[in-house]
Amino acid sequence: MPSPVTLTGEAFSRAQFESLLKRRFFFTESFEIYRTAPNFKGDNRGLYDYGPPGCGLLANIVNEWRRHFVIEENMLEVDCTAITPEAVLKTSGHVDRFADWMCKDPVKGEHLRADHLVETVLETRLANSRLAVGDGKSKLDRLDVATVQRYEDILAKIDNYDGPELGKLIRELDIRNPNGNGVVEEPVAFNLMFKSTIGPSSASPVYFRPETAQGQFLNFRKLLDYCQGSMPFASACIGKSYRNEISPRSGLLRVREFLMAEIEHFVDPESNKSHERFGEVAEMELPLLDRKTQLSGKTAITPMRIGKAVETKLVDNETLGYFLARVYLFLLKIGVDAKKLRFRQHLDNEMAHYACDCWDAELLTSYGWIECVGCADRSAYDLTVHSRETGAPLTVKEARATPLEITEWTATLEKKLVGPRFKKDAKIIEQAVGQLGQDDLARLAAELAKNAVITISTDKLANGANSAELSSDICSIKQVTRVENTREYTPNVIEPSFGIGRILYSVLEHVYWCRPQDAAREVLSLPILVAPTKVLLVPLSNHAGFKPAVKSLAARLRALGIANIVDSSSVSIGKRYARNDELGTPLGITVDFDTLKDGTITLRERDSTVQVRASEDDIMDATRNLLSGMETWKQVSERLPAFTRQSVDE
Ligand code: AMP
Repeated sequence: MPSPVTLTGEAFSRAQFESLLKRRFFFTESFEIYRTAPNFKGDNRGLYDYGPPGCGLLANIVNEWRRHFVIEENMLEVDCTAITPEAVLKTSGHVDRFADWMCKDPVKGEHLRADHLVETVLETRLANSRLAVGDGKSKLDRLDVATVQRYEDILAKIDNYDGPELGKLIRELDIRNPNGNGVVEEPVAFNLMFKSTIGPSSASPVYFRPETAQGQFLNFRKLLDYCQGSMPFASACIGKSYRNEISPRSGLLRVREFLMAEIEHFVDPESNKSHERFGEVAEMELPLLDRKTQLSGKTAITPMRIGKAVETKLVDNETLGYFLARVYLFLLKIGVDAKKLRFRQHLDNEMAHYACDCWDAELLTSYGWIECVGCADRSAYDLTVHSRETGAPLTVKEARATPLEITEWTATLEKKLVGPRFKKDAKIIEQAVGQLGQDDLARLAAELAKNAVITISTDKLANGANSAELSSDICSIKQVTRVENTREYTPNVIEPSFGIGRILYSVLEHVYWCRPQDAAREVLSLPILVAPTKVLLVPLSNHAGFKPAVKSLAARLRALGIANIVDSSSVSIGKRYARNDELGTPLGITVDFDTLKDGTITLRERDSTVQVRASEDDIMDATRNLLSGMETWKQVSERLPAFTRQSVDE
């Protein structure tokens, strides 16, 4: 894993960064003060509350997600419940298969996720070996070339191992619990869903949903009717999901309750899964890490035009390719650093039980590459299984542009004769004839024409036999032509699935840096689009004369729907700016003595700290333009007079 760096390429200190997030209350451990309460035996790991700037950032990311996907593509948004009856998740396969492999350390009583255990131990051994190279004393830690190669190979395809394979690696490589060095037991499957019951009788088992997708599938018919049956279409859902992670870790990255935003794009499987807007993105170059590269033990990223990736079938189809490109644009818009973004193709064993091709958008953080958006082709799996279970037709019926003529072999039994001749066996015979396939029917038609009698296999008859003879007076087999005016099919589903908390955390890491002149002055260069507060309003001092101007500016910004805060505390103006740089506030407006004289105010840009001075109206216009993206800071700073020093005399 490359050493983490800040936005400006300096060494990244996670301790310093996390202390900022905590100090400025972006988020915090839930139920934190209970941790030390005498009667608290609970486990609050993997549960987080967002504070004011965290909530602002989260809301702005979600708003942009709605704009970028739901509004841009006319998606049909639904809001479905998290509490889900067991039967639904049994049918979808989650009750039986939504599990991770877990090892127990019997001495410590700890449960460890098997793949993470292997990963952590091998990464530590590799890191120690690298350190040992220049250190004569720790020769023991030095790994030979073949071992290094083997470890790297295992790590590149760690997601491809199942439980027994992980168990084998753990035994072969003597992998133990890093906490205490205890030997761990064989991996067992642990289902990740939280289970409960509904109602006072506790008789009905339910689960908290592990994804928002199922509600969208179950409402498929209603959504199809809503859009007048026009295919393809997409639904979307934003809501909390729950996963009982074995060992939550890495802050917001692996939690037990998190906000998901998911899209289910329903497409005709006979349309080649083409997308009518694919042309708009075909020329975009995306950073791809394909399956073949990973299986060869490498992690090199290949930049490739998405048009080419689809043409060569590296990415299965246009719809999947279209969404990868749209996800890329979305992530860059909200502040992801393009150099820390890749799309990784899933290995065969890694794919969820429902998926047939899958690419993850992964973001590089100080915890390594983290899956933030999963883009899966779920084929027709979910609609098919729910339809089979409930009898509800989760299908599309379409009028055919040109009616389809179908010529088929058809067997007809002379009902009047079948009953008297076969008596109790009549039903079995009828069933056996009904189940004959086209090849059998073609063969039997020829036999019947030749011999006037055929033999068919049946279930056990009254006389113990498993076949019956049918003569031509009782059975006829002919080719019949029928015309089909409609077509019925089960759509396939392409699903981009976003973990908003993971994205939020990664963006914060990507936009973090420290001013070169003072490492303690930290900045979050959040794009104006998602910054929790857009404008900081600061009076130069707590001089009473500044209050009316500040009040009226705040009201003006509020009327424009621009989130702002006033900082009229007594610390220096520089400190107040610095405090808001830490919150990612992109603009600062200052009211000073010149404001009282000529009504002008200053506008400061967070990253460059450059200021301009102009009338209130001009500054308001510039602020609005910067927010809507109509102007860049470069344009504003070239257009409005530069400002260098506040006038300090009254
Ligand atoms: P999956 O259905 O496993 O592909 O997950 C979809 C998305 O949900 C992932 O890309 C993550 O962004 C997010 N996610 C999954 N599990 C967690 C978790 N335990 N904590 C936070 N986000 C998660």
